[in-house]
Amino acid sequence: MRGLHYAFRILRRWAALTILLAGGLFLAAGTTRITLLRVYVAVFSVLLLVTMLTVSPELARERAHPSEVGADSRARFASGLLFLATVGAAAVDVGRLHQSDSVPFELSIGALTLFAVSLGLQAWAMVVNPFFSPAIRIQSERGHCVVTRGPYRFLRHPGYLAMLLAIPASALAIGSWLALIPATGFCFVIVRRARREDEFLKWNLAGYMDYTERVRGGLCPSFSAVQATAAGLVGLALLVAGFVYTASTNSTADVTLSPSPFDERRAFEDLRQFTELGPRFPGSDMHDWAYLLIHLSLLGAGVDVHNVSFDGFEASTPVGKIQMTNVVAKIQAAQPDTIILGGHYDTKRLKMRFVGANDGGSSTAFLIEMAHVLAHRRNRFTYWVVLFDGEEALETWSVWDGLYGSRHFVQSLTADQRKKMRAMINVDMIGDRHLHIHRETHSDPQLSNLIFSEAQDLDYGRYFLERPLSVDDDHMPFVHAGIPAVDLISLDYGPLNLYWHTPLDTVGKCSPISLGIVGGVLLGALDDLESGRAAKPALASLMVQ
Ligand SMILES: [Zn+2]
Repeated sequence: MRGLHYAFRILRRWAALTILLAGGLFLAAGTTRITLLRVYVAVFSVLLLVTMLTVSPELARERAHPSEVGADSRARFASGLLFLATVGAAAVDVGRLHQSDSVPFELSIGALTLFAVSLGLQAWAMVVNPFFSPAIRIQSERGHCVVTRGPYRFLRHPGYLAMLLAIPASALAIGSWLALIPATGFCFVIVRRARREDEFLKWNLAGYMDYTERVRGGLCPSFSAVQATAAGLVGLALLVAGFVYTASTNSTADVTLSPSPFDERRAFEDLRQFTELGPRFPGSDMHDWAYLLIHLSLLGAGVDVHNVSFDGFEASTPVGKIQMTNVVAKIQAAQPDTIILGGHYDTKRLKMRFVGANDGGSSTAFLIEMAHVLAHRRNRFTYWVVLFDGEEALETWSVWDGLYGSRHFVQSLTADQRKKMRAMINVDMIGDRHLHIHRETHSDPQLSNLIFSEAQDLDYGRYFLERPLSVDDDHMPFVHAGIPAVDLISLDYGPLNLYWHTPLDTVGKCSPISLGIVGGVLLGALDDLESGRAAKPALASLMVQ
């Protein structure tokens, strides 16, 4: 009965801690829908339960209520606070701020594994060390002696090492770089505390001095020079393997495209041509050539000359007032219901020479080819192909700096035009040879479903990933205006995102096959919308009103 009673108490305590942590983190994030956060909470909670159940009741009592405060209790408080700051900041970053939530998925999974292994190490240390107290003190009432078993054979402070690994890993497992700042503070406090504890035990615990002679490693296991070199080499090999792996995942090179009217070769020629113009940010030399070339290309694609127009405006930017110009091609149909296909043609203004083959070039080329296909067939819906200017921030991304063209476009719509907008589909960075389009979380779920299920049907499912990702892009002004919109973006670009907004964003990093995959999927989805095949109850609202 006593055992049962104890287990019940443990479970109650565990449930309370789990609810507090989960509630706090989801509240900080402002949503429960972030997969990595959910997985982190689940892993944390399971390992917490395992630890609580394996630790002896005596130690559990000591840990809950140490009979003395012990030396350095301030550090204990500080480390607890910094742990909360780390996971809290990570949750706020991935859920609300999106300031640094660009941790690659593979790295998050690696960090989560490291987190789990570290907590495992901590549990192991707690099981073999009955004196694993949060207070630095000699537990003479419990016969305190030196523990040399388990992980204590290799290092003197396995518990602190576990924490040094687990807390920074938490930041990355949840997906935030920013949270590494409090995590670094945490590590600093722990290293100081470990040193302090070592000194304390040397002078106060019989046999500890001898033990420090035998086990030389305090926070990191002591190895011979050969062992250390071998470990270093293995680490390096893993790093290189990881780099090569991210560089080679989701390559579209070996794909045979399903037949589609979308001509990926012609689109790729356009991508090359626009990239060759060089930097095309608003105010640059080639910017005006870019939109004139778009105009000519749309006419060449077969759009009626009366239906291609410039939508010029003056934007207030952090670098002053700048003239910007969207290009709009209207492909009329009998029905006034309108679908907007959009994307940006400007490139990011950088000090380095940035030509944006993928970021700017791919969306431009893709939309011109879509206009070509749509202008050469009878459509049920009216299509507006819109090439936005000023998607990129002129300085630093914010609500005021970025999305100039799409914000202006949506503001200028008349009430009557808005009523006819059935859907907006935005494309960005879809030329990447390694295509990973995630479900963008601000996007209309029904529209996403339609496109993602089309990708499955065409056997391109491995390029359209279910993992949610939130991105601010040219679809956002439409989302805010209540128009169903979706963003198709392959955001991770190159190993460790090395090609994004750098001079490495060149034609060689792009592939016609990637454009062809997205083109095939989009045309398939539009066919479903046009033919009414997609008019299941969920999509009825997109079809007729
Ligand atoms: Zn960009």
